[in-house]
Amino acid sequence: MEIKTIGVLTSGGDAPGMNAAIRAIVRYGLSCGFRMVGVERGYHGLLRGEFKELTAASVSDLIQRGGTILQTARSKAFATPEGIEQASKLAKEYGLDALIVIGGDGSFRGAHKLSETGINTIGIPGTIDNDISCTEYTIGYDTALNTAMEAVDKIRDTATSHQRCSLIEVMGRNAGYIAVDVALATGAEMVLIPERDKHCPKVELVNRIVEDIRQSQKVGKKHHIVIIAEGVGGSQELAQMIEECTEVETRATVLGHIQRGGSPTIRDRVYAAKMGKMAVDLLKEGKTNRVVVVQNGKLTDVDITEGLEMKKNVSEFDYELVGSLSRNIQNC
Ligand code: ATP
Repeated sequence: MEIKTIGVLTSGGDAPGMNAAIRAIVRYGLSCGFRMVGVERGYHGLLRGEFKELTAASVSDLIQRGGTILQTARSKAFATPEGIEQASKLAKEYGLDALIVIGGDGSFRGAHKLSETGINTIGIPGTIDNDISCTEYTIGYDTALNTAMEAVDKIRDTATSHQRCSLIEVMGRNAGYIAVDVALATGAEMVLIPERDKHCPKVELVNRIVEDIRQSQKVGKKHHIVIIAEGVGGSQELAQMIEECTEVETRATVLGHIQRGGSPTIRDRVYAAKMGKMAVDLLKEGKTNRVVVVQNGKLTDVDITEGLEMKKNVSEFDYELVGSLSRNIQNC
């Protein structure tokens, strides 16, 4: 099927760099002779026919802005057989032959269903959580890491001044990627992630942290930073329990949505540009049901269905490194 019109939408949680990806897709798509159409508010908008023509000028002054100009949404109605059929019908009526979906696993499931109705679909991984198994990198991850790192650095200043224990909860949904990288980047004493610690009883977690605080005190550390992934949660309760056990002033800070916003870092902008171009190239080659990914450090593409079945895990090495670098102060 010859493709004339390409739609683009952002879906699931927003991530810094989504705008840069939209810009790349639209500018490169137009240069290849395609008509480019934006679908507003993800699959929710697709289901309601919320389309707008995109020109090179309509994506001006966008590369540096966080969020997504197309807006995003979650839609239960779309994820039903009737929803898929209706969305596909509206898309075809508007002339869309192809759709580039920037989002996470759920969004790719939707893209797969649409491809079965005859619309060529390509996925681009966009989520701050880096929790898409088929790719080593997702657009938005680096910006979120930098935002969290800066926040932890600031909390560390005050924690040191007051000789406090600080529990800092970072995002990541059910994955610990943000937590481990932020812990490594900020020199945290400990990190708790859902993959390892979610089912651990609170008392056990408290005992581990308390033991660590005692060790830190022995070597003269003035603060104690623990990074907790949102998938473990409960940081307020843990803080209270730790303070009761140790009499060390303990504060919990939940960083929350601050990690979702802001101007994308260079890494996110560069990936957005390259992944956006590659998505259009895949459509030019007549491909469908593919997702652009990073594997072994290189950009490539995989079948969406196969990609959704892949597995990846937080590196054991990185997780262990957090504690070992913190403890090694004893040998200095
Ligand atoms: P994030 O990681 O940021 O949450 P995501 O893409 O995984 O991104 P979801 O909320 O899981 O976010 O999915 C986005 C949308 O994709 C859903 O609101 C729904 O409309 C659609 N979707 C999810 N799963 C399916 C499915 N199995 N079939 C069809 N559509 C789906």
